[in-house]
Amino acid sequence: LKDITKVYKRGEEELSILKSISLTVKDGDFVAIIGPSGSGKSTLMNTIGLLDVPTSGSYKLDGVATEQMSDNALAELRNQKIGFIFQQFNLLPRLSAMENVELPMIYAGIGKKERRERAQEMLTMLGMGQRGHHKPNELSGGQQQRVAIARALAISPSLILADEPTGALDSRTGEEVLELILQLNQQGNTIVLITHDHHIANNAKRVIALRDGVIIDDYRNDAQSGMQQEVSV
Ligand code: ATP
Ligand code: MG
Repeated sequence: LKDITKVYKRGEEELSILKSISLTVKDGDFVAIIGPSGSGKSTLMNTIGLLDVPTSGSYKLDGVATEQMSDNALAELRNQKIGFIFQQFNLLPRLSAMENVELPMIYAGIGKKERRERAQEMLTMLGMGQRGHHKPNELSGGQQQRVAIARALAISPSLILADEPTGALDSRTGEEVLELILQLNQQGNTIVLITHDHHIANNAKRVIALRDGVIIDDYRNDAQSGMQQEVSV
């Protein structure tokens, strides 16, 4: 992202939610975004996830410039490149776990047979192999989040975006989900995650702190010494 701004109009008033944010996320990194409520974390994530268009600035995803793209082209890029994990899981209640995992593959144009196989594979990897036929309301919160993670992984995304993925879970289940996310990163997945939880931020490789739409801190957690190193934005 380069000089990204997001401005909302409220009547006569203009609200600057993101103020000239520049940020590069490296392949294979694990970035935690922290900051107080209302600081712009979700707005930033929605921009990275191509769910929302910035007011100004440029954004390249995997080298593809997104500024001039049509809504359809943006949706296609999003469906191919990005896996989302949300606080409230956002599973479709009328679909089974299996069908939920298949959904992004439908959008990505993957055929039925391959979809089924891959959905089963993802569910199995997340310990949900026997639960494919269950509806979300027949599953615990932790199980629903596993299904949501399987869904995010189904298209082998370039980038996994997670907005408070453990926010709706008890601490033990949250810890399990954090372990899963750490495993995904160790397997090479690039992760950008919003959290209020310092324990989770301490487990990320890089931490970005937002306040009032500005990056006020940006450092790397050094796994060896526990030291924090400033990085240039
Ligand atoms: P939280 O930790 O509570 O989730 P956040 O850091 O994710 O907060 P955002 O959701 O990005 O914060 O919102 C940042 C600011 O932008 C808030 O003040 C919010 O009211 C405002 N905002 C978000 N969406 C809109 C919108 N569609 N119209 C007007 N203002 C908006
Ligand atoms: Mg938010």
